[in-house]
Amino acid sequence: MEIIKASSKIDMSSQEFREAGHTLVDLIAGFLEEIPGKPVTRSESPSTVRKLLQTFQLIDEGQETTRILEESAELLFEHSLLTGHPRFWGYISSSAAPIGALADMLAASVNANVGAFALSPMATEIERQTIEWLARLIGYDPACGGLFVSGGNMANFHGFLAARKYKLGDVLRTKGIAESIPAGKKLTLYCAGGTHTWVNKAAELFGHGTEAIRWVDLAPSQQMNTVHLRQLISNDLADGHLPFMVIGNAGAVATGVIDPLQEIADICRDNQIWFHIDGAYGAPAALLPELQESFRGLQLADSIALDPHKWLFSPLEAGCILVRDPKHLQDTFSFHPEYYNFDGDASDAPLNYFEYGVQNSRGFRALKVWLSIRQIGKNGIAESIRKNIMLTESFFKMVSATPELEAASHHLSITCFRYVPGDLHEKNPDAYLDELNKKLLLRLQEGGEIYLSNAVIEGRYYLRLCIVNFRTSQADLEATVSIILREGRRLIQT
Ligand SMILES: *Cc1c(COP(=O)(O)O)cnc(C)c1O
Repeated sequence: MEIIKASSKIDMSSQEFREAGHTLVDLIAGFLEEIPGKPVTRSESPSTVRKLLQTFQLIDEGQETTRILEESAELLFEHSLLTGHPRFWGYISSSAAPIGALADMLAASVNANVGAFALSPMATEIERQTIEWLARLIGYDPACGGLFVSGGNMANFHGFLAARKYKLGDVLRTKGIAESIPAGKKLTLYCAGGTHTWVNKAAELFGHGTEAIRWVDLAPSQQMNTVHLRQLISNDLADGHLPFMVIGNAGAVATGVIDPLQEIADICRDNQIWFHIDGAYGAPAALLPELQESFRGLQLADSIALDPHKWLFSPLEAGCILVRDPKHLQDTFSFHPEYYNFDGDASDAPLNYFEYGVQNSRGFRALKVWLSIRQIGKNGIAESIRKNIMLTESFFKMVSATPELEAASHHLSITCFRYVPGDLHEKNPDAYLDELNKKLLLRLQEGGEIYLSNAVIEGRYYLRLCIVNFRTSQADLEATVSIILREGRRLIQT
């Protein structure tokens, strides 16, 4: 009988791995060095990009490792939008700390399954420690629970589901929502207009419908109007509805505004409602002593979503949910299948992350965050966030001092502004400016010199520059003002 040996093709000898790995690391180091000289994006069409792959076929026999790595590096380096470019300020997508790339390689090499302690002893404890460090960084209770997820949407979903379970209790598990609340009544949730669309997704996906969302008015400061919040809650209570969650933004996605967290916390406490903070973008800034007043009340939240792949500069993906009392995550997510046997000694109980969130098998997202914090420390993180905010303030000043630009707002590291040509004689200037700025944004994005996105504030269209980028300098922003003026002038001449 033939003896079956281990599958050899998929394995690599240590020599082969070293050679291929060194080649790849050298290519990446060169790429990182060359980023500032490259266009932010080449704005190639989908068909152009697809064509580049037509030379690759699904082949029967494999190819040489170093060659395929070199080829793929070239494809990606030359045909990607570079979020790490010093002049990339679109959406809330950060430049990625290089140590994150090394961390992901290390994590993939060990391939720990961080669903259960037994499958990932060291990785589980590193994740636990990272969660504690993140809590300490932002001034939250370090005894909180929490875990890494793919990003802000997933982190906020975890907060949503924990809040709902807290309100409805065990009956939710067996009877479902419809039978857990009085007929004709709703479980209602509250957030300011402009809250990220995760909340719409959650309301539909988890069976509530978007009408369960009560949109709270914005005050002139663009923060949640808490007088309106109180009103909405008391109306719902009077109608027999069950308010279960208020969402405060700590860095709203369009403007960067931080809601009055302390006031929201008070309202939640008075009405026994779960207080969730969407700090996907802004929460890390709570680390700065100069922003303590803006973040006051953060420590009172029942849960906080925070994205290390935004303002902690982790490569995608890294989102995180913190929950003050870890029991609520367990109540929501813990099931004990018969085929799992992970319960250890109760005095030294293993932490099994599959009981704290949606995922079963889990990758080791915490490592890149843990290493990044260790590499630069609290001070390094504070410095990078502070610099981004200072650059934003400086850009806001430049925009304010430029007659053809109109500055609208700046909060944390987001500036909103628009191009307003000097001799504007339109009958409906706002509609004209909306269209003009839309065209201008497209032109700037396609140009590849800089990359902005947009925001709509009080119905008006603005250009939006969001700095979560450790490579940006003052000179980049000065050049940007000139580029915007040049393209704006060209646009109105054509
Ligand atoms: C980015 C963002 C989200 C969504 O996070 P993803 O990581 O993109 O899933 C949610 N809320 C806010 C405030 C955000 O900035």
